[in-house]
Amino acid sequence: MAFYYRRGKNQEIRRELTILELNELGYFILNLCQGQMSKNHIIDAVCESYEGDRKEVEVDTLSFLSELDYLGILGSFDDEPKINETRSKDGPWAKLHEEAWSQYFPLFCTIETTLLCNLKCVHCYNFDRSESPKKELYQTLSWDVLEPLLYDLYTAGTLQVSFSGGEALLYPDLERAIRITTDLGMFARVKSNGVLLNENKIDQLIRAGAVGVDISLYGSSSKNHDSFTRKTGSFEASWNNVLLCKEMGLEPEVSVMVTRHNAYEIDEMLDLFKKNNISCQVSMDMTGRYDGTDSSLDDRVTSEQFKRLLRGPHRGLFDVRREVHEVQCACARTNCGISANGDVYPCIGAPIPAGNLKENSFLDIWNHSPVLKNIRALKYQDFSSCFGCKDAEFCERSSGSVYVNTGDYTGADPNLCKEARMRHDYSRGFD
Ligand code: SF4
Ligand code: SF4
Repeated sequence: MAFYYRRGKNQEIRRELTILELNELGYFILNLCQGQMSKNHIIDAVCESYEGDRKEVEVDTLSFLSELDYLGILGSFDDEPKINETRSKDGPWAKLHEEAWSQYFPLFCTIETTLLCNLKCVHCYNFDRSESPKKELYQTLSWDVLEPLLYDLYTAGTLQVSFSGGEALLYPDLERAIRITTDLGMFARVKSNGVLLNENKIDQLIRAGAVGVDISLYGSSSKNHDSFTRKTGSFEASWNNVLLCKEMGLEPEVSVMVTRHNAYEIDEMLDLFKKNNISCQVSMDMTGRYDGTDSSLDDRVTSEQFKRLLRGPHRGLFDVRREVHEVQCACARTNCGISANGDVYPCIGAPIPAGNLKENSFLDIWNHSPVLKNIRALKYQDFSSCFGCKDAEFCERSSGSVYVNTGDYTGADPNLCKEARMRHDYSRGFD
């Protein structure tokens, strides 16, 4: 039988997060734990739905259920397993997150392996790819830097490494890096535009141990997508490869950037993903580029479009709420990023160099960099524009994006403020 979940080695902190990485079978079993089915009934249901020797299924299912129980996911285990309804507040994930936040475990690290790419997306944050970019912009992380970094991330308590780009599939040592990551017990994901995937490549990624791939799409058909990526045929290739990943067992997640060109077809896109059982992440967080150009911002959704999204069938994705104090984000605490030239960032979305891996080790930079220490020391009051803001609960502020768009890490981005105000007005019934 397939694994229900992956488990890291030795470290309690990783053991607790494993529950977030349940595969389809894991979720299937979890969904049966409603307090109405006995363990034997659950084993019967697994046997009916998945191939496998009954004895083996029984052993694996019972061990999985006791693992769920150990993690506090089940509130009752004896006869009819039932999910502990209070898990989100008091469960292992909440505890883990709190611990990582206060002790600075970089749970999530995104590594830009190379800035080479086969596409020229309009919004690409790396640099403006529309002209012929200078050769020196196409940085690639050397293996001599990447290999020790992975061991340091493991030591620092990282749970998930996302290999990004440019186009990560163009990085020659990608599978080698994934293998080391997973052998160390961390989860490895790949962020890709998906065009270069094929059966062989997907198989290699699975064999290396990747748990999933994040593929970006900008439309429900080639019309918008291809003009955004400036590559004819890219939609067809990316979408077909999303489906191929799903079929082959490399869990795909589609990343959607909502722009003024695709805002009107968001419903169509989400319906397409739903129909094909593909999970997705939607963002409107368009930023300027790390080379200082910002023509990409011209593509942000208009106020009229945003209003329509707030009233549309998928309003839940756009009508966000959050705790007011969350203007401080996970930068330099549970997140970190590594640029393709070896700079360590507080988050891949906040390109503030805290040190460079060609000069110092990751652990040295993560533990001692004044840049990171300053960010960790920030209090809610230090975000002077946001402190006391009446729209804060409706704001999707991310310090990295604000920094890229305004140059002020603790400041406010007028576009975000406008959207937060619109959400607030909408919540009060104003138009
Ligand atoms: S696929 Fe990613 S890295 Fe490549 S151009 Fe598009 S946004 Fe940039
Ligand atoms: S709405 Fe503007 S001022 Fe208020 S929290 Fe968001 S970014 Fe800060």
